[in-house]
Amino acid sequence: MNKIINFHDVNKIEWFESVIKILKAKYEFISAEEIGLFLGRNKTLKNTCHVTVDDGDISFYEIIYPVLKKYKIPATIFVSPEAIVKRKNFWFQEIRGFGNNELRSIIASFIGINEERIMNYPVSHLMKMLRISEIWQIIEIYGKKFTNGQKECQNMTVDQLFEIEREGLVAIGAHTLTHPILSNENDDICENEILGSIRQLEELLNHKIDYFAYPNGVPEIDFGDREIQILCSADIKLAFSTETKNLNINDNPQMIPRFGISHGNQIFVQAKLFIGEYWNLFRNIKKKSEKKTRKELKSIIGR
Ligand SMILES: [Zn+2]
Repeated sequence: MNKIINFHDVNKIEWFESVIKILKAKYEFISAEEIGLFLGRNKTLKNTCHVTVDDGDISFYEIIYPVLKKYKIPATIFVSPEAIVKRKNFWFQEIRGFGNNELRSIIASFIGINEERIMNYPVSHLMKMLRISEIWQIIEIYGKKFTNGQKECQNMTVDQLFEIEREGLVAIGAHTLTHPILSNENDDICENEILGSIRQLEELLNHKIDYFAYPNGVPEIDFGDREIQILCSADIKLAFSTETKNLNINDNPQMIPRFGISHGNQIFVQAKLFIGEYWNLFRNIKKKSEKKTRKELKSIIGR
């Protein structure tokens, strides 16, 4: 079995190292390039895993990267050149710590529906129903009412990115400019978000970019054929989703599945990894899947 693992921000080095030890005991770590060779039928893989980290949060540089170096683990990170160069937060970093009820009420009046109808839905899922321009308008309204100015930038600096690039253990891929839900955007914005991030990153690093990760990454609700076509036009070799399943030789290189790990003790992490494809079934018994929730919201919000 071959797996691709997906991390975001991490706050404890002990936790991250313990997850790496679990993976190390069971799998051989491989690079993204080897995934490409496998899908092109130029290499066989058995019991391997590839580590990916999305967003370029500062915790990659401070917590994850030192552990990767200690164990010499190849990895791929997906960043926005705009967030790094212009020192900007992504919308989900900006709303961290915001009051859920206050935010929900602003969203309800913004889209013109009764607050009661969205009361039981997580704010993060509600925000993912909107276009990126609307998300920032909502953040601005919240800011004027409840906070004073913008948060400090939570992402890595250009110098840190250059250091990672120079040391060569970690490949750097693109992740759009502002992390919109691509399927909510029109063709022009979608193309600019994808191609803009690839081109700006190529200019910054002075070489071709081969890898991309879709923001949020759930097939059908976050991206589809349009996004895949744009990536093919930019000659992206591998694009990563967040579909939870093992890597299969017949997988589309533009839809590489990944297991997201963001919390939990060792038993939880082991269960998630080794139950494998059945994980979603288990999870859905406990908690409604994001896909289902967002489909419900679509009918409530009417878009
Ligand atoms: Zn992301």
